[in-house]
Amino acid sequence: MRLHFAAGVPAADRAAIRSEFQAGRPAARRIISRLGPRLTFKTAGGSLSRVDSLFWRQQEAPGGAITVTMARRHLHSVPRRLRVHLLWHELGHAIDAAGLDSHADRRFSAAFRRSSAWRGCWPLKLHVYAGRRCVPEEEIFADQAAFWATGDRNVRSGYWIPPLASAREFWGILRREYLPGP
Ligand SMILES: [Zn+2]
Repeated sequence: MRLHFAAGVPAADRAAIRSEFQAGRPAARRIISRLGPRLTFKTAGGSLSRVDSLFWRQQEAPGGAITVTMARRHLHSVPRRLRVHLLWHELGHAIDAAGLDSHADRRFSAAFRRSSAWRGCWPLKLHVYAGRRCVPEEEIFADQAAFWATGDRNVRSGYWIPPLASAREFWGILRREYLPGP
């Protein structure tokens, strides 16, 4: 499928994103492909390289643009399995933002809480959420989406969240709840 990049994204960054995207399972790639040109990839270096996480943005209007911004060091300078996980973590946010309503959020939330690995609070060590003590729910979802999409359950993002659902359980909810955009 065709991925959409902002103007000026270097060829090496595009190639890295394409390669990491291809590491996702077909169902995950299909969901992302439905977003089409709504989803734009950007890359950034500079001050972003100090941040131990990646960024995504969405204009809140239905059908609005989604931008995934990948830190260059996350595309080129960490082990491949982590690069793949981090890209799919960001795409997990895109899946969440574009296709899941509050009912779906509750179903995922309940499923994750049934896991024996669930904890009431994962202490937040990153500085991307000023003033919060625990990793927010949307980051927990994004990591779970990455585990499902990549099948690699032994890699950890900077949030350090373990897998909280089997791939089968995750897909069982996603398949029923995912609402394709207009
Ligand atoms: Zn995130």
